[in-house]
Amino acid sequence: MRAGGLIQRCADRPGDSHDHATGRSYILNLDTNGAAGALLMAESTMKASYRSTFGRLLPGLLLVVALGGISLANAEREAEAPRLSHEQTPRLVIGITVDQMRPDYFYRFWNHYGDGGFKRLLNHGFLFRNAKYRHSHTATGPGHAAVYTGTTPRVHGLIGNRWYVPALDRQINVVEVPDSDFVTVGGGAAAGERRSPGNMMVTTVGDELHIYSGERSRVLSVSMKDRSAILSGGHTGSAYWFDPATGNFITSTFYRSELPDWLRAFNERRLAREFLQRTWEPARPIETYVESRPDRNPYERPLPGMFRATFPKDLAEIMRQPTMDAGVLGVTPFGDELLFELARTALIEERLGRGDAPDMLMIGLSAADSIGHYFGPASKQIQDYYIRLDEYLADFLAFLDDNFERHEYLIVMTADHGAHYVPQYLHDLRIPTGHENFHTRLNEVMRQLLRQHLQRRFGSDLLLSISGQDVHLDRRRIAEMQLDLAAVRRETVHFLHGLDFVAGAISADTLDAAEFTEGVRGRVLQNYFPARSGDVMVWLTPHTRGDLGTGFTGHGTPWTNDLHVPILFYGYDIPHGQSSAPVAPSDIASTLAVFLNSPFPSGNTGNPLNDLIYRGR
Ligand SMILES: [Zn+2]
Repeated sequence: MRAGGLIQRCADRPGDSHDHATGRSYILNLDTNGAAGALLMAESTMKASYRSTFGRLLPGLLLVVALGGISLANAEREAEAPRLSHEQTPRLVIGITVDQMRPDYFYRFWNHYGDGGFKRLLNHGFLFRNAKYRHSHTATGPGHAAVYTGTTPRVHGLIGNRWYVPALDRQINVVEVPDSDFVTVGGGAAAGERRSPGNMMVTTVGDELHIYSGERSRVLSVSMKDRSAILSGGHTGSAYWFDPATGNFITSTFYRSELPDWLRAFNERRLAREFLQRTWEPARPIETYVESRPDRNPYERPLPGMFRATFPKDLAEIMRQPTMDAGVLGVTPFGDELLFELARTALIEERLGRGDAPDMLMIGLSAADSIGHYFGPASKQIQDYYIRLDEYLADFLAFLDDNFERHEYLIVMTADHGAHYVPQYLHDLRIPTGHENFHTRLNEVMRQLLRQHLQRRFGSDLLLSISGQDVHLDRRRIAEMQLDLAAVRRETVHFLHGLDFVAGAISADTLDAAEFTEGVRGRVLQNYFPARSGDVMVWLTPHTRGDLGTGFTGHGTPWTNDLHVPILFYGYDIPHGQSSAPVAPSDIASTLAVFLNSPFPSGNTGNPLNDLIYRGR
């Protein structure tokens, strides 16, 4: 019998039943066998004392007890195959974040998927169907940070993909630390840009694993987008992302002074350039894509340099225009195909999952987001993207089969935010939106009206910026005029509440004073970080975009379409099943920490997903 009475079951191909399986003990390396060992490890409280004198004597003592007549209890324990996760871990955790993925894409396109991709994960893994973000500004930076830090912007500090800094009178990027010396390395036009995870105020699950393992565990993160790679990689990992200027993958001096040899060699394969010779056409006959709207419709934006938004999309033709760069690849499925190739290369070259401590590999699939922004969730292009992603996933899982047993790796798949349908499309379906017409930008309307109102009411222009959900007032001017800041904030809230496309506004004073635990105000509070947030937080009615005009959509709102994402676990000893329990992506980090035996991230506020862990009676 193996330690812990677990069943070793390695055969793992699609269609196999899913059993609990032993991994190896990478961290504690407990050397126990037989009944005494099983009993010993059934007592998690004994783990701490294992290396003490008492602990060394204990197996012998227990063996005596076991031989003395508790074989019945032993047999029961064995029959129940208790999972003793404190004694073992996966060798490799793979986090796959599909940027802007809505949960309905699993089911809408189900009939188009093969057996080896999404269906394999769903038929053998565990799906959380009611996962929603706990913060209000649903965007890539805050989302990726939430997944791996296990908390919200209120704690991790990343309130948006960018935010306005009054002292600089400009917005900064979520992965830009203005006074930092860490700059990109290996890039073209972007070379020298400040990039690091320094704005993220807490540790990630990968950081904790790295420190806990005596710095043996490695965390490697790849994405087309810098922020996805950097925030998933944490402070102690390494991160590589796509440079549109050169078509190469690059990093920052925060991680290392030059690219590793294997990445240099990967870049020299010039795959991006090769992929940019392709034409993006539907992978299957387009008439079979009955789950999406006609390709020719008024709600989509053509790719840069194209006149029409319809298939086919000749990338070589687009690239012939002088202003185009390799970033075009990121608006096609081929960007994520390239990323999977990079992930495979990194996994082999860095020997991830082959060390004596567990490693983590994060894959941030960004093309999904760009395609969603251009064409919307109802489009043929989104359908084609997910049909292709299913194939990429199947290839990647087959690659893992070639290199690992299934119980050796643990996959978690989620999204950094969801997406809403194109507002104009909903408007034409007679579903209310906050838009009277689709040619004016509502944020601009809001800015002008608020500016005029504050001018009339207080005799001065007191508005600095509306950035995301944050309204920044001119605090210096308010102090000079000896106005009451709280009164100006209240007036701002009252005025914004009078605009019919505004669903709500709340002053920082109220957020400082009250603990909203539910609903939109609860989410807004979870997005509030006093040193970075505005004086007033404002959010628009559902199906309303503040920043964009016609034929364009995305995310960023505190409403269900943008909050709702899948959480899917697969591999290791994940049971097969699904749950509709209300959970959040910020529950993923502590769940992984439980599987890895590592400490929770420093600011963690989520809870481990107990459906995956509980094995008691
Ligand atoms: Zn986006």
